[in-house]
Formats: sequence, C-alpha cells, structure tokens
Amino acid sequence: MTGKEFMLAALEAISLNIIEHEEELNHLDNAIGDGDHGTNMARFSRIILNDLPELSDDNDDLGEILHHVGMRCITEIGGSAGPLFGKFYLQASLSNMNNTSMEAANWVLSFEEGTLGVSQIGRSTEGEKTMLDALFPASRAMQEALEEGQNLPAIFLAGAEAAKAGVEFTKTISASKGRAAYLGQRSIGHQDPGATTVMLMLQALHKTAMEMNVE
Ligand code: ADP
Ligand code: MG
Repeated sequence: MTGKEFMLAALEAISLNIIEHEEELNHLDNAIGDGDHGTNMARFSRIILNDLPELSDDNDDLGEILHHVGMRCITEIGGSAGPLFGKFYLQASLSNMNNTSMEAANWVLSFEEGTLGVSQIGRSTEGEKTMLDALFPASRAMQEALEEGQNLPAIFLAGAEAAKAGVEFTKTISASKGRAAYLGQRSIGHQDPGATTVMLMLQALHKTAMEMNVE
C-alpha cells in the first residue's frame, strides 16, 4: 500500500528522469517530428518539481494530486503530448478521489484507465507508433503481475519491461498518428519519443517503489 509520501516521491523521480533525458527525447522527436518532445516534457516536469512543496502541504487526497498533475499537463505542455498525458493523469485520478492510500490493484486500475483515456482522446490504438505502444503492453503486464500476486515493485518492473519492449517495437512500424504519420513508411527504423517517455515514467516508478520498499 502506498500513500502521499510515495506519490510525491514517484512524481519527483518521474520528473527528474524525464529532465535527465530531455535531449534524447528531443533527438528522437527530431527524427520523426518537430524535435520538441523533450523540451515539452522537461518543462512540465520542472513545473511539477516546483509544485511538490505545495502538494506536500495540501490535503492527502491522492486523486486530487493526480488531478492537479493532469491539469498542469493540459495547461502547461505544448504539443500533442500535453492533452494526451493530461488525459492519462486525469483518468488515473478518477478512481482515487477521496483516497489517501493506493493498493497495488489501485495502481494497476489507474494505469489502465489512463491508457484508455489516451486512446480515446488520441483516437489511436496500439500499432500506430505512439505512446500507446508502451502504455497498453505495460498495462497488460502490470495486470498479469497483479493477478500473480506480485508486489508493487515487481508490478512496476513488469510494466517498465513491457514498455521497453513496446519502445523497441515502435522502431519496426510506421506511424499512422501524430506528426510522424506525415513520414509514413519513412518513419520505420525510428523510435517513438512518447513511448520512450512512458518507459521513463515506469522505470522511475519501479525505482521509487524499490527504494521505499512499498508493497
Ligand atoms: P507534437 O507531436 O505536437 O510536437 P510532442 O512532440 O510533445 O507533440 O509529442 C509527440 C508524441 O505524442 C509522439 O511521440 C506520440 O507518442 C504521441 N502522440 C501523438 N499523437 C498521438 C495520438 N493520436 N495518440 C497517442 N499518442 C500520440
Ligand atoms: Mg514534437
């Protein structure tokens, strides 16, 4: 079970991991988009880092915290990633409203609902070379790990590994959504930046869960 302390530590770890990979994400987006994905995500991450002290002082409602992050995405990130990740966090927040703790099952459900939200707002699905090629496999892997009775660090690890495989998969397919779709077949061979961000998020969640020894 995790509470606010874990949530804030996880948001910090996610933000730092994205900032650390800002250049790499820009580089990936440069090849098949407009080169701003790292800048977009790092800017948002710096805003979240800046919000952390205030979030820490506010109430302990985990749904409210996720909702706050989602609204920040929508209002502060440029590009398509803003509304998409915004929808992810907003959908993930819904089942946690008025909750001050989350069990492993809550994390898995939130991740699944966030993924479906992205799919809905992006009018996109797996196999289109987007962040969904990391989100959907990660969501399934986390569900399986949960059903096997694994603990939260193991569940996040399963998610991170599935996301990594999804990132690799994006190299093999052509894009049919987002800016990369303009390149069509020429996008093959390139790794999707949004899927890479999802992998970085899950790796940070796993690291935080290990460090804080949560169940
Ligand atoms: P922009 O494309 O507007 O410059 P970003 O570069 O920040 O925005 O984000 C690009 C990422 O957004 C892509 O790598 C892809 O993963 C994701 N993306 C774009 N369009 C969609 C969509 N319709 N559904 C899901 N993900 C999408
Ligand atoms: Mg871009």
